[in-house]
Amino acid sequence: MRKILVVGAGQAGLQIALGLQSQGYEVTLMSNRTADEVRSGRVMSTQCMFHTALQHERDLQVNFWESQAPKIEGVGVSVAGPDSSPSSQLRSSRGGPNRVIDWVGKLDGYAQSVDQRVKMAGWMETFAQRGGQLVIHGAAVSDLDYFSRTYDLVLVSAGKGELVSMFERDASRSPYDAPQRALAVAYVHGMGPRPEHPEFDAVRCNLVPGVGELFVMPTLTTSGRADILFWEGVPGGPLDVFQGVKDPSEHLALTLELLEKFTPWEYARATKVELTDAGGTLSGRYAPTVRKPIGQLPGGGLVLGVADVVVANDPITGQGSNSASKCAASYLDSIITHGDKPFDGDWMQATFDRYWETAQHVTKWTNAMLSPPPEHVLNLIGAAGQLQPAADRFANGFNDPSDFENFFYEPEKTGAYLTGLTG
Ligand SMILES: Cc1cc2nc3c(=O)[nH]c(=O)nc-3n(C[C@H](O)[C@H](O)[C@H](O)COP(=O)(O)OP(=O)(O)OC[C@H]3O[C@@H](n4cnc5c(N)ncnc54)[C@H](O)[C@@H]3O)c2cc1C
Repeated sequence: MRKILVVGAGQAGLQIALGLQSQGYEVTLMSNRTADEVRSGRVMSTQCMFHTALQHERDLQVNFWESQAPKIEGVGVSVAGPDSSPSSQLRSSRGGPNRVIDWVGKLDGYAQSVDQRVKMAGWMETFAQRGGQLVIHGAAVSDLDYFSRTYDLVLVSAGKGELVSMFERDASRSPYDAPQRALAVAYVHGMGPRPEHPEFDAVRCNLVPGVGELFVMPTLTTSGRADILFWEGVPGGPLDVFQGVKDPSEHLALTLELLEKFTPWEYARATKVELTDAGGTLSGRYAPTVRKPIGQLPGGGLVLGVADVVVANDPITGQGSNSASKCAASYLDSIITHGDKPFDGDWMQATFDRYWETAQHVTKWTNAMLSPPPEHVLNLIGAAGQLQPAADRFANGFNDPSDFENFFYEPEKTGAYLTGLTG
């Protein structure tokens, strides 16, 4: 059977490794950390995954945490108004800015977030228990040079780490060359429900114009159900204050201070929270980047980049793990249907091009959401408060961002869509 090396044990690498393994391929998986190190380490993401991406895990029968993880049934949008606007419809009882927009769209299929510390550690153990060769080693380019001669195919699924340097940046698909948001995540226990819909969970997107965004979502972490408070701050702005904050308690205190100031309606349900664990915080930033999919090694061998290695979007739209799952499913099918033919450069390019058919919509939408919204998008988001079908459609776009082509980017299409709804 064909020998395949997968470098990097994240969402994409593990999904491909487990999928190939179940088909009888001889798979080696290289990870720079053991399962225990991942499980007891720092959180890595907020990893909210929608129906299509979750279905790929079900198809491989590796949805081990589905019954325990909270079911996220909606996506809500709140927009903060100016601090003292008397015309704001939803006044905050605690002072601070009000909400000028506030709605929740229902998802056709539920979403879930399983802490990657839980999932990746569990999947690594499953891979090894099923007889897979798990090598704990941080791969360098020189290692890959050697392995590309001994394996039929080398896949690089090492996320945004140093190995990306092997893959040329695709400037035509990467409009930004610097980070567009400063990221700060805190996993907490003790968060109350949103009073507007206490009967179901939703990802709550809170937009603070000119300042950034706060995302709140439930997750399953190492200590059970928790909620994630995730600030995305415009660089240099008032949310860009987490750099150099090393103490997790200080990180949480800062997170809550910003909640109280910019999103008091979310602060109101966060007054009793505490961190899930000492590894429950994360901060950082990166530039959204699309890369050329094939890496050429010094010895002439070729490797194929996977998921974040080749298409890394800002997490503002919560798409990276979804894309990693979709990329893994697409590559898996391309590998299996290729049979015994060589995995040459043409096949690698075609394999990536097939994935890009899906990924391009994610990149286009995510990059659009990083800029201040044009008037027709503001109208759409505003109208969704009165038009439930528009709220639902927006929410379901998180599952399939290609639908935004039909009603989001062009003012004419947005106008026609809204007119169609109002008759
Ligand atoms: C703050 C934040 C919030 C996010 N929220 C969401 C969200 O809500 N929804 C969503 O869908 N996405 C979200 N994402 C994005 C998502 O987490 C990533 O896009 C996704 O994990 C990418 O999967 P991957 O398999 O490509 O890479 P990764 O998950 O990064 O996995 C790569 C693995 O390779 C390992 N590795 C690195 N270098 C080497 C090496 N040299 N040798 C061996 N192993 C190596 C790493 O340790 C890691 O385990 C978020 C990201 C961030 C930063």
